[in-house]
Amino acid sequence: MQSSDRGTVLMVGETIDGRLSAGSGDLGKQALKLAERLGGRPVGVLTGYGSDEPARTWSASAGISVIVLEHARCRFPNPSMTASGVAGLVDEYAPRAVCFPHTMRACQAAATLSWRLNVPCVTAVEAIAEKNGHFELKRSIFGGKLCRTVSVGTTPLVMTIMPGTGSPSMPTAVPDVPLPVAIRRLPDTDPGAIPRRIDRRKEADQALKKAQVVVAGGRGLGTPEQAGLLDTVAAMFKSAAVAGSRGACDLGWLPHSRQVGETGRTVAPALYLACGISGAPQHLAGMRTSQTIVAINTDPDAAMLKVAHYAVIEDLGRFLPALREQYEKM
Ligand code: FAD
Repeated sequence: MQSSDRGTVLMVGETIDGRLSAGSGDLGKQALKLAERLGGRPVGVLTGYGSDEPARTWSASAGISVIVLEHARCRFPNPSMTASGVAGLVDEYAPRAVCFPHTMRACQAAATLSWRLNVPCVTAVEAIAEKNGHFELKRSIFGGKLCRTVSVGTTPLVMTIMPGTGSPSMPTAVPDVPLPVAIRRLPDTDPGAIPRRIDRRKEADQALKKAQVVVAGGRGLGTPEQAGLLDTVAAMFKSAAVAGSRGACDLGWLPHSRQVGETGRTVAPALYLACGISGAPQHLAGMRTSQTIVAINTDPDAAMLKVAHYAVIEDLGRFLPALREQYEKM
């Protein structure tokens, strides 16, 4: 059956200060692949003030129509307003699924929406399949120690998606004709009911989220000076950032803003180089959906090797300079 015969999949992103938020950008890239897995036609939904331009960009790059949900007096994305705006679209489109990025604010909006619609909400989804009319959703639990498969038979399926899920891919052919971007104003409410933003902590480090290659170091670096090796390897790539395990960050070898994992950042780059990182579940929780993982470790039994696509069993102090040397010869 053609996907377009089977209904709509709403992909809900958000803008902050007129720009697509980091988590939403990833969802934009995944839209087509995810919708294909879910068997539906993707329609983007953007919440937040000043979404017109990001909506046009998203629509043009992903080749999907985008609906902007805006409230005249609320200048930043608000989970309860997002939930009520999206609930209106659910009435209109009767979608098969509503997908949010797995960010704190979007999780709140997804949970509120599922409560309003009286349907389940599945968070931190890493893989999707359809079996006998049910969606089978793989999600990690207990901080990434275990994986659980959840089967959901009700629609719409409300879920939050881990970055990297659904093998992000851009469409092979973006249509020549501009796709519609519709702006919907949310109904005005009692001003007292509109939450006020008192302060906003700026995202300290966007570089890590955006990088195509993440070169991460752990306690296996051995000394803070060895952390410099990560920079020399990262410099080999056009879009790369240096990161670390909590072990390395707690020792002060790398800044905490670069920590990957359950209590750090979640990344899903095209390439993740894990240098001297054992692969504790709390670290894997932040990077296991990376497209290609390469582990550089002296221990062939390290847990990181179980999730890695390629492994180099070698002292990183020997391997990383050798890699750089080969690169310079090219
Ligand atoms: P280690 O576990 O010590 O591993 C070092 C690795 O380097 C080993 O595999 C070793 O074989 C290898 N090695 C040693 N020498 C070399 C060499 N010369 N060349 C190559 N390899 C070498 N951790 C996170 O990373 N992120 C989190 O967000 C996070 N959150 C946590 C939350 C909680 C509540 C708790 C309890 C823990 C959390 N942790 C987190 C910590 C986590 O459990 C691990 O302790 C930590 O990830 C270990 O860091 P590591 O892999 O760098 O160090």
